[in-house]
Amino acid sequence: CGIVGYVGGRSALDVVLAGLQRLEYRGYDSAGAAVLADGGIAAARKAGKLANLQKELAERPLPTGQAGIGHTRWATHGGPTDGNAHPHLDNAGRVAVVHNGIIENFAALRTELTARGHELTSETDTETVAHLLAESFSSCGDLAEAMRQVCRRLEGAFTLVAMHADDPGTVVGARRNSPLVVGVGGGDGDGEYFLASDVAAFIDHTRDAVELGQNQVVELRRGGGITVTDFEGAPADVRTFHVDWDA
Ligand code: GLU
Repeated sequence: CGIVGYVGGRSALDVVLAGLQRLEYRGYDSAGAAVLADGGIAAARKAGKLANLQKELAERPLPTGQAGIGHTRWATHGGPTDGNAHPHLDNAGRVAVVHNGIIENFAALRTELTARGHELTSETDTETVAHLLAESFSSCGDLAEAMRQVCRRLEGAFTLVAMHADDPGTVVGARRNSPLVVGVGGGDGDGEYFLASDVAAFIDHTRDAVELGQNQVVELRRGGGITVTDFEGAPADVRTFHVDWDA
């Protein structure tokens, strides 16, 4: 339902939670967040209101990291439980993904992944994407390319945002028939970037934004800017606009 991603100089978890709060008006049944820290991914997921996730984080804090993703879920596949809440991780816990929308061909993908030895632990359509990304990344070593390869296999409508522990300065996003906007901030001078399903999530930090087109993948690299391509890898124009309304 609501998606937030961040890479930059601040505590990613703080930025992500504040962003999710700005998206609460949309309604949701569960919430979760993940950060890249200490060479791995740390995640927390809770059914219910954002307050439940915040309570969980107060009891079991995540380490501080400078790249993070977050999600408020409106369940379509699998009930509103802690285990079905996003982010979803692969079995090695190296990749984390959040998703809005529906992966129509998830049943076939699940069967295929299970046959290759993956253990799927939730009832969601989303979890298949985490496993596919992990496989693609291990063969190509590039998260944006892994995202393109996976998107070519997906049917349905989706906004996806993902990160990988082996590429800690990067957050990637993709969209088809579901919105995704990039926020470009000045941050600590090194540049900072936001991803969200709605500009409201990052408007307190920046009003410079890039709207992703249909069937596009964006790579946000700390200090390295934004790269946008289509699902085949052909470069796409990046057009920045200024958000001059109050979201
Ligand atoms: N289909 C996904 C799920 O049920 C995402 C739902 C959403 O858009 O929040 O987990």
